[in-house]
Amino acid sequence: MSGFKKYYQKPWADRLQVLQTEQLLTADQLASLKAVAVNPKLGETMIENFITSYSLPEGLALNYMIDGKDYVVPMVTEEPSVIAASSNGAKLVKQAGGFKTNLTERLMIGQVVLENVVAPTELATKLKKAEEQLLQVANAAHPSIVKRGGGARFIRVRILAADLISLDLAVDVKQAMGANMLNTMLEAVADYVRTNYQQEILMSILSNYATSCLVTAHCQIPLALLATKQLAGKEVGQKIAQASRLAQLDVYRATTHNKGIMNGIDAVLIASGNDWRAVEAGVHAYAARDGQYRGLSEWQVVGDNLEGKLTLPLPVGFVGGSIGIVPLVKLNHQLLQLESAEELEKICVSVGLAQNLAALRALVTEGIQKGHMHLQLKSLAVSVGAKQAELAPLISALESAGVRDSNSAKRLLAELRR
Ligand code: NDP
Repeated sequence: MSGFKKYYQKPWADRLQVLQTEQLLTADQLASLKAVAVNPKLGETMIENFITSYSLPEGLALNYMIDGKDYVVPMVTEEPSVIAASSNGAKLVKQAGGFKTNLTERLMIGQVVLENVVAPTELATKLKKAEEQLLQVANAAHPSIVKRGGGARFIRVRILAADLISLDLAVDVKQAMGANMLNTMLEAVADYVRTNYQQEILMSILSNYATSCLVTAHCQIPLALLATKQLAGKEVGQKIAQASRLAQLDVYRATTHNKGIMNGIDAVLIASGNDWRAVEAGVHAYAARDGQYRGLSEWQVVGDNLEGKLTLPLPVGFVGGSIGIVPLVKLNHQLLQLESAEELEKICVSVGLAQNLAALRALVTEGIQKGHMHLQLKSLAVSVGAKQAELAPLISALESAGVRDSNSAKRLLAELRR
């Protein structure tokens, strides 16, 4: 594999050629990699060792009304049924007046971790006393955020062990997600602490546990709206509340409950150019904030209504990272008619609650597979080689036979072709 030596220094065309020289891909395959590389210059700007663009489908979730404003929500996902479920949950909530959200602050927290500390309590007191000076050092490292009305807001000192202290810095990052600006500030604070307190530093880095960047969505749905053909609204509402209780009690269920909440949120984060790994990490840590991992949403029947609530740490950006450079992200901001990071937080948390409502309602009534089936059968049909014209007949043959495994799909396709 000597062709990969100094791979990152090679021009794009040479980098592709190596794949053929090393007998990993054929010339035809190289041509197909080139053909799907949407914007190689941009790709090379964004990541290292770029070879091509990997595309995912983008669709629109509909029916969202959040704080009285209507939205169409672009979602990028490879998973069938996410967008249908999202639109379905949002529709129910819209019929009941839409989502209401609240958000109080948008501060990002970063850590300077001090190691080999000798007298932790004494040092912690000294650092806390030096708060004003430390905030000034942080602000001097990124003056432009101060001009924008943001900047370092407070420090917090946590003794983690007899020899380890975390000096936490909270920063108002305005419209950015803030990872890079925070890391710059933290490194400046670390230098100051190293020099002025003769203290060893282990690391300086943003924390993705964004507990000062919380946003909440609420909704209140009349029970009658939840009725299905088989079940009265009240019964459905009670079962949804019971499913919510289950996710508070059982980690196996809570994990899946929260995965469902993130299905739609991740799709919006990708569409809006955000770092979904950062949000995922913070959200799951938040789900375990009292020591047990729990469901993030809460549903309860109150009088004649089902009331839902979801609070999440959502450190999203409206500017920064890849947001300003990917043309499709700009277009998605326009589709959302997005004006700020705060608004994106509110959209994301509402999407999470809608997704959760749709999933729980399906789970406690007809089950999840019925709604999932059609698109999944379509993927199955494509995977066994069905051509466009064969999709519809093959899907209905699979539906009538009540099967969805690839052997049956291959057999039915062969029968269709006879
Ligand atoms: P950038 O480094 O792109 O910084 C955003 C910049 O936008 C600011 O520095 C500021 O520069 C400019 N800006 C313009 N208008 C505004 C405004 N109204 N409010 C705030 N800033 C504004 O991005 P981030 O610092 O947000 O970092 C996000 C990136 O960091 C993501 O790509 C993420 O993946 C990555 N990352 C994540 C980590 C993690 O999650 N642990 C760790 C490291 C990186 P100026 O003021 O100079 O104009």
